Amino acid sequence: MKKNFIKRTALALSVLLLTGAAMPAAAAIEAPVRDSIAVEKIDFDNPDFIRGMDISSVISLENAGVRFKNEAGQTEDIFKILADNGVNYIRVRIWNNPYDANGNGYGGGNNDLEKAKQIGRRAAEHGMKLLVDFHYSDFWADPAKQKEPKSWVGMTLAQKKEALYAYTYDSLLELKDAGAAIGMVQIGNEITSGIAGAFQNTDRAALLQTGASAVRAFDRNVRIAMHFTNPENTGAMKWFADFLAQNKIDYDVFATSYYPCWHGSLTNLTEVLSYAADKYGKYAMVAETSYPYTLEDTDGHSNTISQWNNNSGDNMCWDFSVQGQADEVRAVMNAVNNVSGGKGLGMFYWEGAWITVGDITGKTGSAWTRQYNANKTLWEQYGCGWASSYSAEYDPDDAGRYYGGSAVDNQAFFDAKGRALTSLHVFKHVLTGSVVSDALQGDVNLDGAVNIRDATSMQRALAQYETLSPEQRMAADTNGDGSVKVEDATALQRKIAEFPDE
Ligand code: CA
Repeated sequence: MKKNFIKRTALALSVLLLTGAAMPAAAAIEAPVRDSIAVEKIDFDNPDFIRGMDISSVISLENAGVRFKNEAGQTEDIFKILADNGVNYIRVRIWNNPYDANGNGYGGGNNDLEKAKQIGRRAAEHGMKLLVDFHYSDFWADPAKQKEPKSWVGMTLAQKKEALYAYTYDSLLELKDAGAAIGMVQIGNEITSGIAGAFQNTDRAALLQTGASAVRAFDRNVRIAMHFTNPENTGAMKWFADFLAQNKIDYDVFATSYYPCWHGSLTNLTEVLSYAADKYGKYAMVAETSYPYTLEDTDGHSNTISQWNNNSGDNMCWDFSVQGQADEVRAVMNAVNNVSGGKGLGMFYWEGAWITVGDITGKTGSAWTRQYNANKTLWEQYGCGWASSYSAEYDPDDAGRYYGGSAVDNQAFFDAKGRALTSLHVFKHVLTGSVVSDALQGDVNLDGAVNIRDATSMQRALAQYETLSPEQRMAADTNGDGSVKVEDATALQRKIAEFPDE
């Protein structure tokens, strides 16, 4: 008897809803998806917001035997795994000649042009554009190091300009011929202190403009990025934006690294990026960021963020977990999206796949030593650690002394066995939102039962008499298509009334 009553009520509601004459317009309500990580949706100003990742070391890892797996544990092309999870842009660093005279690689992925061609082609095959990150060096360029390539040593500024122009233009041409979809080019990497061995302002400006001219000559549709770091130095960052303008450097994107352990608050990040956007009309971007999903080390080479130093930053406010890693990515994307004037272009996660070549987890004593030595052999042979011993000739004081494995294996989106972590979903979930919930599908009022009250809640929400929480909207999205519509209400009513499917 009760069932009949419900059936009649549901029918009456159906008729009311389907005719709809007396109801206010029933708009579709966006619904988050259900997952084991929660991600708050971002309303992006820029529909093509870059959700990118740098995986420069990936070829060297594959050569050393690493296999990447999807979440189901099946070996799959990592480019497919990334694309399937919403990554839409790949970044790759290029060193002119990261090898010694005998052909031994300096490590750090041995990222020469040949590696970049492979990465660019595979990215394009999976619908992803390429950000080309020229270091104009034979190894790591960062605030502490901006050493020119071996073959440029002793050049005058004029000669260096000529070499830089030719290298930029020719490399881009080769990348294009290899099948890469080049969308953006960085003139130098973290050029806060200098570029390619040039540290005087006039020399720096001349080389930056030379690189920019080469990119413009290659393809005017390719965006040019200037990449700085230490955004916590707010005044210095603004000075760089002014410096580029005063020297009439032709570029499109003002970019910075953002590592929350060292680089200040997200509010400050938005502020420094907005300065270049507001004052000079530039796009703004985070070119590198990362965050640990664990404080454990898995390859025997100590990590930049570990249990020993994880409190050193003033903005390490997320858990060191899969959820925390996703939270950081979402927060940084949001900070970029908050750049004024809709000029926030996107974000690249740095080395999201630099995992161990051999898992030391749980090993002790001689078993640990054996695994560590095996890893060390691979780092030396394939250049898949951050630096090899062969780098000593080029960088004797740092890489030549402290060479070894990955210092960021705990910040990857793949575990020590190469399997994708759930945190990777953040790259797509920022578009829809996701909730962690054990609610029944259809239990819109979250009282543990699916009944006519849920259908009523849904109709009230569609008629804009009631606002549903993200979890309620997920439960109301009965067909899981990302929005709550009249069809969902009808489907729920049919289910309640035990109507057969049509
Ligand atoms: Ca490590």
